Amino acid sequence: METKYWDSYNNADEQQLAIQQAAKLLQQGEAVAFPTETVYGLGANATDEQAVNKIFNAKGRPQDNPLITHVASKSQIAELVTDWPDYVDKLMELYTPGPITFVLPSNGRCAPNVTAGLNTVGVRIPSHPIAQQLLTACGLPIAAPSANISGKPSPTTALHVWEDLNGKIAGILDGGPTGVGLESTVIDCTNSIPIILRPGGITKEQIEQAAGSVMVDPGLAVKTEKPKAPGMKYRHYSPEVPLWIVNGGKQNIKQTIDQLQAEGKRVGLMGTAQMIDGIHAHSTISLGETIEQVATNLYDALRTFKREDVDVIVCQSFSERGIGQAVMNRLTKAASNHIHV
Ligand code: AMP
Ligand code: MG
Repeated sequence: METKYWDSYNNADEQQLAIQQAAKLLQQGEAVAFPTETVYGLGANATDEQAVNKIFNAKGRPQDNPLITHVASKSQIAELVTDWPDYVDKLMELYTPGPITFVLPSNGRCAPNVTAGLNTVGVRIPSHPIAQQLLTACGLPIAAPSANISGKPSPTTALHVWEDLNGKIAGILDGGPTGVGLESTVIDCTNSIPIILRPGGITKEQIEQAAGSVMVDPGLAVKTEKPKAPGMKYRHYSPEVPLWIVNGGKQNIKQTIDQLQAEGKRVGLMGTAQMIDGIHAHSTISLGETIEQVATNLYDALRTFKREDVDVIVCQSFSERGIGQAVMNRLTKAASNHIHV
């Protein structure tokens, strides 16, 4: 299939036309990639089982992994679910539109492959202007997982989407690099206290502030427990190159790199500008200075190392405060728990 690529985000008139064309393809039951504030999504009509199947086929996504449905407004969420507890109103007031997904009791309007047969549905209102305009233009709830081949790092540029899905989907709307760089926070809102199923763009501290209390799915931390978000059990975000997380700072990183180089390995090093300063490796990528910048740059760095042909990637560990919790969650998964103390 020929994939249409709209690279019009620098021209307001052309962009309006591109959004209208993309919305039409979505209405016709096609799968189209678009930017959100977290990562690029691969969208299809959430009420059309066949359209949603195109997402699973293009990504090679396991059928038991449910999709997040994206809508433009709170009233559109109400059309997909039965009800929600009061704390959801507070969370919505403060953090939507934004990188937070609410798992709520489904009323069955979304196609069964969107919810993977569960009686709940994950819904979110993205804040990215192009995502908002596209959702408004098509007037449909849009199921949209990240627009990458399943298991690969999520795409933070339209070029990443092109690398993975060219020829497999109807179109790609280029909206420039995404902002947050990591996926949304997924919260189970079917109990009296919200439960974080996947850490993401909205932090645990922010949720606690709005809802009073919050729990974290034990399946996220303990390997023997089954995570409640089916997607969290897969080895995700994989850079195709072994990734080592090194605890303990500069000295430990230097030692690890020396050891790997002595074994004849080409080492790719990534970390904050401060951390990597003065350390020599085959190839080095600065992820920025703040933890927010690390989140923004992480997936692009993993993809770059793959192109640069390194044998192993070494990365520092980060504090789990704020968005650091999501950063460490993705890094640990990419490393398959290969952590060096
Ligand atoms: P992705 O769209 O690739 O960012 O992944 C969406 C994540 O949300 C996966 O980890 C899913 O398992 C999770 N998810 C989506 N819908 C639900 C749901 N109804 N219940 C629990 N987890 C969900
Ligand atoms: Mg994904």
